[in-house]
Amino acid sequence: MTRQTHDVIIIGAGLNGLACAAALAGPQVRTPANVCLIDAADPAALANLEADGRASAITATSKRMFEALGVWPQLAEHAQPMQKIAVTDSKLGDAARPVLLQFAGQHIEGAISAYMIENRHLYAALYDQIRQSSGIAVKTNTTITQFDYGTAWAAVTTDTGETLEATLLVAADGRNSPARQAAGIKTTGWAYGQTAIVLTVEHEDAHNGLAEEHFLPAGPFAILPLPGNRSSLVWTERSGEADRIMALDGKGFQKELELRFGGHLGQVTPVGPRHAYPLGLQISHDFVGDRLALIGDAAHVVHPIAGLGFNLGLRDIAALAEVIADRFRLGLDVGDGATLQQYQQWRRSDTIMVAVATDFLNRLFANDLEPVRLLRDAGLKAVDKLDAVKSSFMREAAGLGSGLPKLLNGLPV
Ligand SMILES: Cc1cc2nc3c(=O)[nH]c(=O)nc-3n(C[C@H](O)[C@H](O)[C@H](O)COP(=O)(O)OP(=O)(O)OC[C@H]3O[C@@H](n4cnc5c(N)ncnc54)[C@H](O)[C@@H]3O)c2cc1C
Repeated sequence: MTRQTHDVIIIGAGLNGLACAAALAGPQVRTPANVCLIDAADPAALANLEADGRASAITATSKRMFEALGVWPQLAEHAQPMQKIAVTDSKLGDAARPVLLQFAGQHIEGAISAYMIENRHLYAALYDQIRQSSGIAVKTNTTITQFDYGTAWAAVTTDTGETLEATLLVAADGRNSPARQAAGIKTTGWAYGQTAIVLTVEHEDAHNGLAEEHFLPAGPFAILPLPGNRSSLVWTERSGEADRIMALDGKGFQKELELRFGGHLGQVTPVGPRHAYPLGLQISHDFVGDRLALIGDAAHVVHPIAGLGFNLGLRDIAALAEVIADRFRLGLDVGDGATLQQYQQWRRSDTIMVAVATDFLNRLFANDLEPVRLLRDAGLKAVDKLDAVKSSFMREAAGLGSGLPKLLNGLPV
């Protein structure tokens, strides 16, 4: 019988792997597991604009989870509340961009519905938190080259020739997930033929917490507020056009930027490098295998149109951490089939709903046919008058459905 060296091995220390380690064995966890977190890179090297220039919309429930995990105090000073969201639908170069739909003051249960936080701060806060925990062994710059899934244990072999065993492997190893592939779990999905150009900009005037989503024919151009007179842009283009824009020199890029950004916030200036992310949809057929649980992008990749990808990962982690903590307290096996099925059942339908909704929104707005545009604009204007519908939409986006795991209610596990 193989010796177990850890309760859980987490493969991948991206945002989801780090958050999962904090949820299973961080300093705030009542019954911490013995966890080993392994990544081919070093999360400390990701905490800068060059490595990951994105910012994430963090929903009200994700914020509560960060509070329960003890990471919110470090994040708070970097978090920009989204005070308002404005949606427009126009063509590139249109003189005016009338606001068709606004979410103003649609705060959830008295709290702000979402915050913008740069990913570099998320990496730093989560990594700092898990380094305070003696129950988490971290192996950086270590690639897993082999996966073995048994019925009572799982093992991984690293590029340094070490073999580690655990009761459960958690795959947080991203959209190409070697752990998922080794388990033979298939995925369904497609590429959108769109690429998101991401960069941070400074502007002369204050944004006042306004998030803008301009639907242009190639895809959404989002101006997302950051602390200070700064915003994070998620600028979606058809992939060929994105390649052309990414290759432009500073002057050419500035011209394309101003054409889409407009002049309402004064002079706009890029800060830090441009990044390009090809967009697609991908859902794993199963979220679990023998002694294996998939979380984050390893389980699902969705269009960033609603800024929900990492939030979905946090919902996975909250559910998994609760299922595991309950088993732990009873002295039961945390990686057996019953535990994993419970996790999968908790997460499947919410993930599929978000994937379908984001796919629908992207297809609807990336359609330039005039009748479609007229219809959707009429629809947006109608919804704008219905506060109850807008509140319900914000509650769904924030993950405030029924059956929330404890961490998303701000309660420890
Ligand atoms: C343009 C854009 C904007 C977005 N905006 C938002 C937003 O506003 N809000 C939101 O919630 N989400 C957003 N998302 C989604 C979010 O960024 C992702 O869902 C999230 O970053 C995925 O993190 P992850 O940890 O699952 O995967 P990854 O970040 O891909 O991490 C996987 C890790 O696994 C490691 N790894 C892989 N294979 C191995 C191996 N064999 N051995 C060891 N280590 C390995 C890698 O080194 C890597 O560090 C956005 C996405 C994009 C593209």
